[in-house]
Amino acid sequence: MTTSAELIEVSERRSAHNYHPLPVVIHEAHGAWVTDVDGRRYLDCLSGYSSLNFGHGHPKIIEAAKEQLERLTLTSRAFYHDQFARFCAGLGDLTGKDMILPMNTGAEAVETAIKVARKWGYEVKGVEPGQANIIVMEGNFHGRTTTIVSFSTDPEAHDNFGPYTPGFRLVPYGSVEAIRQAIDANTVAVLVEPIQGEAGVLVPADGYLSDVRALCSAEGVLMIADEIQSGLGRTGHTFACDHEGVVPDMYVLGKALGGGVVPVSAIAANRDVLGVIHPGQHGSTFGGNPLACAVANAVIELLNTGDYQARAAKLGEVLHTRLRELIGRGVVEVRGRGLWAGIDIDPELATGREVSKALMKRGVLAKDTHGSTIRLAPPIVVSEDDLLWAIGQLTDALYEF
Ligand code: PLP
Repeated sequence: MTTSAELIEVSERRSAHNYHPLPVVIHEAHGAWVTDVDGRRYLDCLSGYSSLNFGHGHPKIIEAAKEQLERLTLTSRAFYHDQFARFCAGLGDLTGKDMILPMNTGAEAVETAIKVARKWGYEVKGVEPGQANIIVMEGNFHGRTTTIVSFSTDPEAHDNFGPYTPGFRLVPYGSVEAIRQAIDANTVAVLVEPIQGEAGVLVPADGYLSDVRALCSAEGVLMIADEIQSGLGRTGHTFACDHEGVVPDMYVLGKALGGGVVPVSAIAANRDVLGVIHPGQHGSTFGGNPLACAVANAVIELLNTGDYQARAAKLGEVLHTRLRELIGRGVVEVRGRGLWAGIDIDPELATGREVSKALMKRGVLAKDTHGSTIRLAPPIVVSEDDLLWAIGQLTDALYEF
């Protein structure tokens, strides 16, 4: 079992079909490039859905992981370990928050944010028992757990997974007025992606996030920013909220926090919010484990240099300038910020999957979302020449249809 065809056939036969991968079997990767089992090289323009912001095998991250692997990997939170304090203090400083609650996956961190917001609502805000509600956005993507899919507006993610968790109110993404109308005395939080990634890299109008911030402050409601995909350098700032100078009450982080090596997620909030959690009320066997913390500590060190944010901003200008030139040449619209773009392909021309397959044949790995949108999110370490080459491949690929 060594050829791509054999490996794909067995994978399809022996795994649940919860994904629809492109037909490439990756064997090795360094920086922004991956190599498949047949020795073909591709530029990675997906970055594990923005988990590989620092590239594949970043030397500082790998060094931290290797050192930790050989020394200590798991203690459980029954004991302290020597990477934990640095992780919490480092991530706390990066977010400007007092406290950190570590988990593993993004969905777990979102679940954590929901639990903390509800508990804060009952114990601090004085919400009626069992009546807390959280305002969420149409088109949201926050993960795949039963509670989270309860408020998904994507039929594929939502349908036939009920009974659903109550306590969520959907409003259109981008409308502060809709949030204002949905808020009542039992509203504990507004949960928002500063940029909706899975929905197709939807960037809200300027002023939206600061208006949401002001509204939440005025109404005594927590603003929770899910920065799992938008955060940690991708948009040209540490957080996408930074573009508007907005500081949410709670950051939800994941993906790139684990450096593309291990799953690491966390929420960050101040003591008046996160202080509601006491022993026995929340946790995870692997959350905050030594390996995860050592890797995240290396990631935080990279972010503290500011170099990756600056590079994403600079290369982002190149990316968006070039992509905008494709409008009217097979592309209907381009959105995004920093090194992150959602490209709507003219549906009359081709589907997003057809274009993704054409790109793959040309040595560029990207993935479609929602039918006709292609998302480009190369590792921030990509060279400018490679980025321009990939855009050239997209330009040429569109002529194939
Ligand atoms: N939140 C956002 C904004 C995401 O983009 C994702 C994953 O794509 C998640 C949450 C869920 O993260 P995970 O797949 O690690 O559970």
